[in-house]
Amino acid sequence: MSQILFRNLSLLDPKWDEPRGGYEVLVEGETIREVSAKPIKSRGARVVDCGKRTLMPGLIDSHVHVFLTEVNIGHLEAIPLTLMTAKASQLMKGMIDRGFTTVRDTGGADWGIKTAVDSGLIAGPRLFISAKAIGPTGGHSDPRRRTDYQQASCGCCNGMVYVMAVANGADEVRACVREQMRQGADQIKIMCSGGVASPYDPLDSLQFSEAEIAAATDEAKNFGRYVLAHAYTPEAITRAMNNGVRTIEHGNLIDEKSAKLIKSKGGYMIANLVTYFSMKERAAQFGMTAEMLAKNDIVLEGALRSLEICKKAGVKVGYGTDLLGALQVDQSLEFIHRAKVLKPIEIIRQATTVGAEIVRMEGKLGTIAPGAYADLIVVDGNPVKNLKLFLDQGAHLSAIMKGGKFHKNALK
Ligand code: ZN
Ligand code: ZN
Repeated sequence: MSQILFRNLSLLDPKWDEPRGGYEVLVEGETIREVSAKPIKSRGARVVDCGKRTLMPGLIDSHVHVFLTEVNIGHLEAIPLTLMTAKASQLMKGMIDRGFTTVRDTGGADWGIKTAVDSGLIAGPRLFISAKAIGPTGGHSDPRRRTDYQQASCGCCNGMVYVMAVANGADEVRACVREQMRQGADQIKIMCSGGVASPYDPLDSLQFSEAEIAAATDEAKNFGRYVLAHAYTPEAITRAMNNGVRTIEHGNLIDEKSAKLIKSKGGYMIANLVTYFSMKERAAQFGMTAEMLAKNDIVLEGALRSLEICKKAGVKVGYGTDLLGALQVDQSLEFIHRAKVLKPIEIIRQATTVGAEIVRMEGKLGTIAPGAYADLIVVDGNPVKNLKLFLDQGAHLSAIMKGGKFHKNALK
């Protein structure tokens, strides 16, 4: 099997507080074979001289939507699946260009796009997919306009219908969860509160009954999957956690009590500050409505505080972005927003080791260790000192490797 030897580098293992010099990393096939503080002997390995740059695990974004290709997602109703796929392939190339070698898609991406990436047809990060996001009638994932009385369109010619599902009552929820898992979902996404990008549901509405949430988590568990819940308010977070949900998405309005509950259940929160800042600045120009932007202001206000509350309660927080369409270019700005309240190494851990735990690939992703997938980036400097090295669409990354294959290599 072909081998690649990285030398003359500083290794950033997210367990450490700082990169350490003198290490070498040997990749064999799609995994890391050896990591050593001494020179590694390997006859026949292709040698890559990193010129003292920092080698670290590829980044993990635990909340993206590769199929939400429009900033006003309502516009997806006029986008057929073919065009959505073409747009998604560009968005995913942007993600891996920025050093994100794994993303968890929290609603929309299907087994088709995942297979296209896995088989090398499309350049992009590893995808952990949820298939359709599931919510109740009138909730955050009800794709209809008020003038629609029935499920009018087919998902092949209406992107909005393709990425979202509606289910009511525990039995229907159970069937819908089973359907997503039949379609290859790695995890199940449900809506437990109102949302920003949906026009009709109040932010503090509680979506799904406790029996419906419990049906979803029971069914996911039976199939070896888990449930993530879109939830902003303490009430929504509490209902989700008490009924078996594993990860809370957004969580902007979290309070100390609901944070303690997540901690006691061993759950995770996936914050995503950048989307609220970017929407406030630029979403109107892409057709986001005044109602949506008013809801955005409410959650934006809680975003930084939510990180402080989670830190104090000991809740593990994943790196998420949740950016829509053209705003996805801001994906790495999440580092900069979090740095207002967290240390750079804490944010790097959120985007590596914590992300790996979230997708249940601890030791295989988010780390540079023997047996892990060779998903790595080579940074032109020390990101612990300067998070801006992650900005500019990957310009400061000299190499990006996923599964032992270079996506980019500007090194000799
Ligand atoms: Zn959401
Ligand atoms: Zn989302």
